[in-house]
Amino acid sequence: MVEEKKQIAIPKILTVKALAEASQLPVTQVIRELLKNGVLASINDNIDFETAAIIADDLGFEVISAKEEEGESLGPTQRIMSGEGELRAPVVVVMGHVDHGKTSLLDYIRKTKVVEGESGGITQHIGAYQVEYKNHKITFLDTPGHEAFSTIRAQGARVMDVAILVVAADEGIKPQTIEAIELVRAAKVPFVVAVTKMDKPEANIGRVEQELAAHEIVTEKWGGKDVIVGVSAKTGEGVDELLELVLLQADLAELRAEDTGPATGIVIETRHDHKVGCLVTFLVQQGTLNVGDSFVVGDKHGRIKSMEDANGKRIKSAGPSMPVQLTGFPSSPSVGEQLQVVGSEKEARQVSTQRLKKTTARRVSVKTSDLSHLSSQIRAAHASNLNIVLKADVEGSLEAIKNQISQIKTDKGKINLVGEGLGNVAESDVLAAEGEKAFIVGFKVDVNAPARKLAKKDDIKVLTYDVIYELTDDLTKILLESIQPEKVEMSIGKATVLKIFRDTRNEKIIGMKVVKGKAQKGDRVRFSRGEEFIGEGGIKSIKRLQEEVREASAGDDFGFQVAITEKIKPDDTAEFVHIEYKKVILS
Ligand code: GDP
Repeated sequence: MVEEKKQIAIPKILTVKALAEASQLPVTQVIRELLKNGVLASINDNIDFETAAIIADDLGFEVISAKEEEGESLGPTQRIMSGEGELRAPVVVVMGHVDHGKTSLLDYIRKTKVVEGESGGITQHIGAYQVEYKNHKITFLDTPGHEAFSTIRAQGARVMDVAILVVAADEGIKPQTIEAIELVRAAKVPFVVAVTKMDKPEANIGRVEQELAAHEIVTEKWGGKDVIVGVSAKTGEGVDELLELVLLQADLAELRAEDTGPATGIVIETRHDHKVGCLVTFLVQQGTLNVGDSFVVGDKHGRIKSMEDANGKRIKSAGPSMPVQLTGFPSSPSVGEQLQVVGSEKEARQVSTQRLKKTTARRVSVKTSDLSHLSSQIRAAHASNLNIVLKADVEGSLEAIKNQISQIKTDKGKINLVGEGLGNVAESDVLAAEGEKAFIVGFKVDVNAPARKLAKKDDIKVLTYDVIYELTDDLTKILLESIQPEKVEMSIGKATVLKIFRDTRNEKIIGMKVVKGKAQKGDRVRFSRGEEFIGEGGIKSIKRLQEEVREASAGDDFGFQVAITEKIKPDDTAEFVHIEYKKVILS
């Protein structure tokens, strides 16, 4: 069903009134549509481009950005990729197995390549720094472990231009080396392999090269395309060559960025300082960041109060590829979040308020009742795997979520991805989900109006999230709850019937002598007469003399209140059975 929609061009922020005028619709209709999407706005309130785009769809028109280059939707990543602007320093990430020498290599480079005397007062270590080699600047991101890098990518941010894959010459490839290879491949960036600890007597670069070849990283020496260089952080061997190779890769990639105009960039790490509050390590990706600039980061806004370079020197402005340490944040932003400088504090406040409204609207869209409804639906269908269609805003998030989802497994079932894609949830996604008995999970995307209607009509659940761990937590919950728990029966005791005290149709009070084991309220009791099975029921209460007890144990007589319809007689034998439902566990 392809509808011709009327297009209107709007700026990145506009008032509700302006949108109504542009779309030639009554203001009340626009306000009502906003409300339906969880946004409470009045006639003079500002809304952002993305919000306008969502409700435009419902109102039967399409919005396009009035000024394409400045459009909110055009993030720095796309601009960087467009290859416009001035050449900029490459941003390099060092990855590899723990203890293979990442920190030592970075420390060696920092010590030998940071220009003498540039170091400022504070020598506190921050997660990024810049070195100069043969008049070329190189930015290193010093993020311990791969998690920080994965988090940055999960936010959809692209920071790494070149990777250095570290493998120790004495140990060779280890599990985290493989993880690093996969991360680098997923990020589609050029890389150089640094075989570290070459000074060690047991160093064997040939063996490392062989192991790498098994992972399709083939040294140029053997006719492959990959660059492998031996280095030592002890003696400095090979480090210059490594830096040259990194610069060569960067040259080939022709990295460019606009170095004027309002800055955008990525939060690399955050810390709390009891004196200055939130300290943020930030990588400028586009434009120039100045002290005093108003900015939006996620759904928060602030003003840059102070800026230091990676050496702790106070500076007033920073350009592309420069890591800086900033203050001026109202609260800690998330690692990987994009910061955007905007024209004024007022604009910053408006944009962040809009974003907050939107995230709140998405967050309330997933209700506990949705989750339990889904679980019971899946349980009723006796399916042990969860089928989902996954939609995300950008490639980085999609991959990161896929990766995390693949790790959510139980001994009974897992999550099956039956469809995936980028962008808002559309009718085609609902249809795909329907065909596969799946539900839809969206990350930082919205559900367009036709899709919402169809999903409602066909009872296809759509869950949308803005935070990855909330998404994975919920999927884990649904998976655990939707699997039929395994019933385990245990015979725990035996008894002989002495006397029947009360005998109604559905309930008996039976005096029994426990001859073996024990029984508790809630357990089942099965009666037999000789070889013949008579019936079974649940124990509602247990009495000893006149007193109610929790447990009946061997050696004594007890009165059992049992929910059973069959007639029981003295000398019948009883078996006590305890039933447990084995909880499904994550594997
Ligand atoms: P990371 O966990 O990858 O950051 O590894 P580290 O840089 O902390 O190094 C782990 C250990 O290897 C430390 O004891 C280092 O002193 C040692 N090491 C690192 N690089 C070299 C090197 O080039 N030569 C030698 N001999 N030891 C090294």
